[in-house]
Amino acid sequence: MQYVIVGGSIAAITALNVIRANRPDAKMQMVADEAVPFYYRALIPFLLDKSRTVDEILFTEQPTDDKRVKFHHDRCVGVDSTQKVIRLESGNPLPYDKLLLAAGSSSVRPDIPGVGSTGVYTLRNMDEALKVRDALEGCGKAVVVGGALAGIKMAESLQRTGVHVTVVEQFPRILPFIADTETAQRMSQKLGQEGMAIHTNDSAAEILATDGKATGVRLVSGKTIPADLVLLMVGVRPNVEFLAGSGVDTDLAVLTDQEMQTSVPDIYAAGDMVQIHDAVTGEDVISGLWGNAVHMGRTAGFNMSGIKAVVPPFLSSFNSTEIAGLPIISAGLIHPQSEQYTVYTEAQGENYRKLIFDKDRLVGMIFLGDITKAGVYINLIRNRIALGERKDALIREVMSVLSTL
Ligand SMILES: Cc1cc2nc3c(=O)[nH]c(=O)nc-3n(C[C@H](O)[C@H](O)[C@H](O)COP(=O)(O)OP(=O)(O)OC[C@H]3O[C@@H](n4cnc5c(N)ncnc54)[C@H](O)[C@@H]3O)c2cc1C
Repeated sequence: MQYVIVGGSIAAITALNVIRANRPDAKMQMVADEAVPFYYRALIPFLLDKSRTVDEILFTEQPTDDKRVKFHHDRCVGVDSTQKVIRLESGNPLPYDKLLLAAGSSSVRPDIPGVGSTGVYTLRNMDEALKVRDALEGCGKAVVVGGALAGIKMAESLQRTGVHVTVVEQFPRILPFIADTETAQRMSQKLGQEGMAIHTNDSAAEILATDGKATGVRLVSGKTIPADLVLLMVGVRPNVEFLAGSGVDTDLAVLTDQEMQTSVPDIYAAGDMVQIHDAVTGEDVISGLWGNAVHMGRTAGFNMSGIKAVVPPFLSSFNSTEIAGLPIISAGLIHPQSEQYTVYTEAQGENYRKLIFDKDRLVGMIFLGDITKAGVYINLIRNRIALGERKDALIREVMSVLSTL
């Protein structure tokens, strides 16, 4: 059995490890356009301020150490599902019996004047992170366009190098997908105290440049912000172009069933290039989350090995991180728009907790500061547990923690 895996990140590696464990006879080929060794993508912000070295963000076990795995540092440019081969940029066709698509997503580069100037970067992979790290030599001011999680993580890291950082976010608040207004205000205040400038309700209209080198950013509001370096962190789009003509159905991203099989037999997909159905909101979205990529990769790996498995319910919003020294965990529906939902909040010093219920079901939560037992409540959200009369006791349990701090 010939397994071919396109992609070299967490969804691909998780699937590969499951196949290696369950099919000792398997021949496995991996195609990834980033060179090995494999690394934890979410940790690349820490390369900028050198708080982590490259070695420290590598997977401790590299799947390519297994002699059964053949690695191709190449790019998949097409899939012929009739002949069961993929085409590589180098020109070689690669036959498969079972194929996993795990090509993730790429940074969006906004089409604004000056975007091609020297000193303007997108940042999603290690190669780009190392380029930005080198460009920080002699850099005094940076603008990060995009104040969602990845943008703020990069901004914090840049700031730790002594660079003055300005963040520009088009939403009325930073961290629009993981924070409510209260949490975002608290975070903005903390980041501001550390010297970061934040402009919300605004976006980049033009990169200003002299002799082809970026000197600043003009915002839609008309303000101009000087910068030696501009990071564009305005979002990602799934890498599905190479699937044109393959027969694999896509919408916002690749469509799969609960076993991660695509519309084409023997072709599976996992990770950020897959469209998921959110268990709470019922919306079809692109996940963009590490944990979901793990679940998808594992499920695909089992089914490709001939062992039936289905993915657990997905949350498209579930983040656990630390910003400005404050831990934050948020999950589920954190911006309820209808009166059908009941919201409970409690604050104590730097700690803040919010619970959102749909009748007796917990559908969303934000814990800022003290994050004790957050995992328990996230499972209630993910599995849509009806709490019945236990709802009031749960609210008391969650909120009373703050009064004991
Ligand atoms: C800065 C940053 C911080 C993040 N922080 C968090 C966090 O705190 N929590 C969280 O849950 N998630 C976080 N994420 C998101 C998380 O990293 C992604 O959800 C996860 O990496 C998705 O994994 P994946 O395997 O689907 O794809 P990716 O990690 O996108 O990897 C896909 C790989 O496939 C390669 N590839 C693409 N096209 C081809 C092709 N045609 N041929 C061959 N190879 C190809 C790509 O180069 C890449 O190496 C963060 C992401 C970034 C960038």
